[in-house]
Amino acid sequence: MSKISVQPSRIQAGETNVLTKGEAMVADYGRIALGAKEKMVIHLRHHGARDGVTGSCHQLLLDERKSLLIDCGLVQGADAGGNAAAEGDLFKIDFPVADIVALVLTHVHIDHAGRIPWLLAAGYKGPIICSEPSAALLPIVLEDAFRLAVTRRRDVVANYLRMVRERLVVLPYNTFHTLLDTGERQVRIRLQRAGHILGSAYVECDLVNKKTRVSKRLVFSGDLGAPWTPLLPAPRPPWRADLLVLESTYGDRLHENRRQRRLRLQAVIEQALRNGGIVLIPAFSIGRTQEILYELEDILHRRKGSSLADVPVLLDSPLAGRITEVYRDLKPWWDKEALSKLARGRRPLAFAGLHRVDGHEDHLRLVDALSHSGRLALVVAGSGMCTGGRIVTYLQRMLGDPRHCVLFIGYQAAGTPGRDIQRYGPQGGYVYLDGEKVAIRARIETIGGYSAHADQAGLVRFAARMRHQPEAIRLVHGEPTAKVALRQALVDEMGPGVDIS
Ligand SMILES: [Zn+2]
Repeated sequence: MSKISVQPSRIQAGETNVLTKGEAMVADYGRIALGAKEKMVIHLRHHGARDGVTGSCHQLLLDERKSLLIDCGLVQGADAGGNAAAEGDLFKIDFPVADIVALVLTHVHIDHAGRIPWLLAAGYKGPIICSEPSAALLPIVLEDAFRLAVTRRRDVVANYLRMVRERLVVLPYNTFHTLLDTGERQVRIRLQRAGHILGSAYVECDLVNKKTRVSKRLVFSGDLGAPWTPLLPAPRPPWRADLLVLESTYGDRLHENRRQRRLRLQAVIEQALRNGGIVLIPAFSIGRTQEILYELEDILHRRKGSSLADVPVLLDSPLAGRITEVYRDLKPWWDKEALSKLARGRRPLAFAGLHRVDGHEDHLRLVDALSHSGRLALVVAGSGMCTGGRIVTYLQRMLGDPRHCVLFIGYQAAGTPGRDIQRYGPQGGYVYLDGEKVAIRARIETIGGYSAHADQAGLVRFAARMRHQPEAIRLVHGEPTAKVALRQALVDEMGPGVDIS
């Protein structure tokens, strides 16, 4: 049985290593020894998302002078700690970047890609390798992040985006790409569809020590999608992995199935229709927004002829609007169900009742009108955890009114206003929004299945249904309780022979 240690690495005499020299350099890396007979020591370092759910950034040592970075995400919410934002810790690249030969991006969510500007500022010169849809989405996401965190000066933003575009290297799904090939070793990577958002991938990484002829496969899950995610095919487990670095966001939960959650979504909307209130849906611009639009189109389509069919759906987020447009351009990556709807003349992301709100003045006028209207409207606005963005204006105006409803469809991290509303709202509590104490009288609903993350069963299936199961699993991207529960579920399914750390 292999042993796993997260202690600082020391190469020991007699060990077959992916490395041969450079012992001092690996001192900061955790060490994972794989293989009973064919040993290889993996050196892995986490610059985020080891103990929390945000800031994904994993560094893998390839040889004595080179390393590979998987994701470079922003730390958010409670993971950031008290005054971290003020001190700039959120954006920190506190590791040398000169030895990084490539950044592989699993997907474009900000907690996986948001530190790229600071990686470039730190002097990173290598490529940003990602799937084709991710390459289309990334500049839009980074432009938004850059404007918010650095500057709104057009020339600077344009210059920066040109730099990002120059670094992008598209790797088609299911295609090997060799990163390193020397007399001693070969390293190659492959992306597979992860079903989380368009463009999302899990990364297979083969490490071959040519001298010892030992070869190991590492799989970095990134964020894995749930089956029945609108627009996306469900992720398939890999053929094999020796080491699996697995996300654990929903490691302690099971989602509602698609039929249940659709019925609940419909019930929430019908109740709001009776109340004459607004349904506010805080949603992430990328992925969740498009999924919920897809589902709303379906519900409104099925109720053709009823008063529900004419309810307006207001997308009040310029970023989500732009992303939705790109999603429409990326139809070749939609799943079969979505494509068959298109073939039947439906327009899941561009239906008649869908209206986009872009300008800030329009947004303010809309909030004003809706808070008095007494008529049902469905509003989708960011940010997904209510930490900022246009949803905050709506919440400030409408949380105190019991006619309205806040519907959460995504994960609410500890320390975010979204989590507080979810937790204290049903007891008639309050929340602080932009420093203002706001009483919660509106109805609070949560529907779990639109999480875009696999639940416990999905995560276990991903690990256990491989043809050749991993001998070691490293859990990342989860709160401690989720990790403990997932670890137990993995042991129950796979037996005690797998080392889980
Ligand atoms: Zn994600």
